Amino acid sequence: MQPDFTKLLMDWNIAGNTRQMPWKGERDPYRIWLSEIMLQQTRVEQGLAYYQRFIDNFPTITDLAMAADETVFKLWEGLGYYSRCRNLLVTARFIAFDLGGVFPDTYEDILKLKGIGTYTAAAIASFAFGHPFAVLDGNVFRVISRYFGISTPIDTTDGKKLYNQLANTLLDFTQPGKYNQSIMDFGAVICKPRQPLCDSCVLRHECEALKHGWVNELPVKSKKIQRKTRYFYYFVLSFKDHFYINKRSGSDIWKDLHEWLLLESADEIAPDEAILTEVLNTILSSFSGRIVSISEPELQHLTHQTIKGRFIRVHLKKALQPDKGLQLVAKKDLKKLAFPKFINAYLEAHPL
Ligand code: SF4
Repeated sequence: MQPDFTKLLMDWNIAGNTRQMPWKGERDPYRIWLSEIMLQQTRVEQGLAYYQRFIDNFPTITDLAMAADETVFKLWEGLGYYSRCRNLLVTARFIAFDLGGVFPDTYEDILKLKGIGTYTAAAIASFAFGHPFAVLDGNVFRVISRYFGISTPIDTTDGKKLYNQLANTLLDFTQPGKYNQSIMDFGAVICKPRQPLCDSCVLRHECEALKHGWVNELPVKSKKIQRKTRYFYYFVLSFKDHFYINKRSGSDIWKDLHEWLLLESADEIAPDEAILTEVLNTILSSFSGRIVSISEPELQHLTHQTIKGRFIRVHLKKALQPDKGLQLVAKKDLKKLAFPKFINAYLEAHPL
């Protein structure tokens, strides 16, 4: 027999759930996968536009697999967390070229795909194939934690195990996809992180958090994110209507995106022309040109780090030596490259 919780939730879904999303009721695993990956760490309103653009450009997984990396990154530009985009391409190509374009249809096989964790695997398995796997995202953690009054931190091994067991017990096995969508919608529109709508909530009579006044304390997380600050100084080097560009590599943030010549400093550097000229001389082992502007400080908060920095525009009199690892790109071609948000925000306010 289904627990009361499940019955109340499913009744609410029929009578009170008006949340609309373009992929709701979608059975195509490719589209479900795309929407789930795009919405991780992203607001729904923002993710929607990207989802639509991807579907328009790549209607099938084979279209995505065949696209050039640069084209896909450009479409992803601004969405952040670029490892998601890289994994998306790896998985699309694996399915298109190794699996004949057929999306795996079991939870276990879906979970093996690159970039897909337990949450996304459960979402695809239940929405596309009707398999009984409960999703566990921020919304679900919150609803369960408040309704049952659970204070075990959600980001511990014990917490994850406990919530996972409970979530799978509460699942409506006859319609797992609908149930998963309902609980996520419920967390998004009723049991919201702040100011949940307890007065009109269908679960209020049994809700432990409401009974005991714990609504604002639950769910509990064990650790607060510690952000470190990094100082980025970008030298926007131009030479005859061309710009020097670097493509980021390695395992740091913004891998595969483009940028200007970067100096990462352990501390802030004074916005002083003489000091910055000296810095540039050191990096490039002398250059011929002049600094024409130094921006105000720019700031971007990422999940684990804060990027602070400035943009220094430099007109070069002579081209750089080719061994500097930078490519010279014509100004008109810059728009074809994908840049991190930190750079795009600066360019929007200060066009080249
Ligand atoms: S009563 Fe309030 S806290 Fe409890 S489940 Fe409903 S919205 Fe969430």
